[in-house]
Amino acid sequence: MKETRAEKAQRLVDEGGVVIERVFPQYTQALVQGDHARYVLSTYANGTFFCTCEWGTVHSYTDDLCAHALAVKLAVEKEN
Ligand SMILES: [Zn+2]
Repeated sequence: MKETRAEKAQRLVDEGGVVIERVFPQYTQALVQGDHARYVLSTYANGTFFCTCEWGTVHSYTDDLCAHALAVKLAVEKEN
């Protein structure tokens, strides 16, 4: 069975592939080591995101978060 986006996000966190670079009130900047490449992304306080992955090129600035953006949110929650 193909893992869901949420499952993949959790796996990326567990694998230690999420590096939170800077946390601002309005957004968080992070690097995520994905399965195929390293992605640069931001998650915004309004629930949207930006990511350099393939999904992100189409869905950035919407609330349809890619696995990387979900992973960043999980990692931030874990830190707090
Ligand atoms: Zn992504």
